[in-house]
Amino acid sequence: MTVDSASERRFERALASLRGLSVGDALGSQFFVPVNYPLLKQRLLPPGPWQWTDDTEMASSVLAVLAAHGRVDQDALAHSFAEHHDFDRGYGPAVNRLLRLVREGGDWRELASALFKGQGSWGNGSAMRIAPLGAWYADDPEQATHQAEISSYTTHQHREAVVGAMAVAAAASLAAAPGGPPKPEELLDGVIALVPRSAVGAGLRRARDMLDYQDAGTVAAVLGNGRRTSAHDTVPFALWSAARSLGDFEEAFWLTAQAGGDVDTTCAIVGGVVAAGTAGAPPADWLAQTEEPPGWLLPARH
Ligand SMILES: [Mg+2]
Repeated sequence: MTVDSASERRFERALASLRGLSVGDALGSQFFVPVNYPLLKQRLLPPGPWQWTDDTEMASSVLAVLAAHGRVDQDALAHSFAEHHDFDRGYGPAVNRLLRLVREGGDWRELASALFKGQGSWGNGSAMRIAPLGAWYADDPEQATHQAEISSYTTHQHREAVVGAMAVAAAASLAAAPGGPPKPEELLDGVIALVPRSAVGAGLRRARDMLDYQDAGTVAAVLGNGRRTSAHDTVPFALWSAARSLGDFEEAFWLTAQAGGDVDTTCAIVGGVVAAGTAGAPPADWLAQTEEPPGWLLPARH
């Protein structure tokens, strides 16, 4: 296999994960519209088209940088985030301001480290965008974890946000393993072994203990469902849900969405992880209703 064909396969795998992420994001965000609440209970689809939000926009930058550099280049990533930042895509206020200032010439290192009185953001924004990177590194979960760590610092420097991104990338890498998707406990054990001690890690160990629970609402009540938009309130439940549903995108989506909370983000994470595996692609009719990834990502390669 040539270097080019290996790189092309990485891109295709990561793009499949990005498409799953975008369906989770776009369809998940439909359930912030009150008229659609009853549909969610019955697992019925709202009318399309479904527009994606910040999760997909940022994930597209992650993939564009991997395609251009073969790894995470922090300056290129920060500038891609800033250049493609669309204020109307539902970013949080801190990241809106950060990306505007980077676009105006600010230094992302100083700006990201100064957020929240110098603690850095612990929001779920660096976890929500990173599953395609895990798919890119399907053969190397340790490298996926390392590159995800580097990627997080461009916007989210708090340890919990960094570990949240590492965990999601590790999960997507393991889900994309060539031998087919791992068992639920194998996925979470694998992720737990790759992340450092943290609240996210503690949540993942709890998630591992709750794999036999049937009611996602109970599990979300314990682990969080992203309502606080922190990494530790988002990632453990999302990976519990993904681990339970590898190979079944529809089940993964509904299980996650019905738990409520930050639904576009939890569903983006779950969609990106599940679709990283070859058996986990979203249904064709769901994909058809979902807005295509941004034009600046695709024409460069296709
Ligand atoms: Mg969003």
